[in-house]
Amino acid sequence: MQKIRVKDKDFAVSIPWEKIQAEVRRVARQINEDYAGQTPVFLAVLNGSFIFAADLLREITLPCEISFVKLASYQGVNTTGQIRELIGLNLDLTGRPVIIVEDIVDTGLTMAHMLETLRKQNPGSIDICTLLLKPGKLQVDLDVRYCCLEVPNDFLVGYGLDYDGLGRNSKDIYTLAEN
Ligand code: 5GP
Repeated sequence: MQKIRVKDKDFAVSIPWEKIQAEVRRVARQINEDYAGQTPVFLAVLNGSFIFAADLLREITLPCEISFVKLASYQGVNTTGQIRELIGLNLDLTGRPVIIVEDIVDTGLTMAHMLETLRKQNPGSIDICTLLLKPGKLQVDLDVRYCCLEVPNDFLVGYGLDYDGLGRNSKDIYTLAEN
């Protein structure tokens, strides 16, 4: 089995590039069908989704826009702890069909927060499109309309996903190897 070392850990290939591409194409076809006649706005969540967003958008045949956003974390001055602000949104979403493009939904807390923030912009609709979903880790009730692959609870890197900032450039998706 093909292995890579990222920083101080070994990872074994888990989802080969060809399999990822097939699933990305399948989801893109579904979006093309479901959104026929509309001009959706894709909101790709950085950093992890940059490769997925690029591959997905090349398969979208609809007129569409894309904006890259980020949930920036910083410590607030109040006692509630972390505040996460949506940055990079440069489009008016009022009345627009929005598709959030995410690398991985794990507990779902990030996505739940993103939905709450975006609803304040009064979009026409919001759908979630994720490359990976860990159903075993979900802590919130999320309607994930588009998902390329469901995965077990293991830690993954590659195809945009990082381990401590590294490994995003690996073509395939790798899982932490036991050693
Ligand atoms: P959630 O809020 O759903 O728990 O976490 C979502 C974020 O956690 C993802 O956008 C991603 O940045 C990170 N994450 C969750 N699972 C993994 C994983 O297996 N590998 C990597 N590299 N990041 C993960």
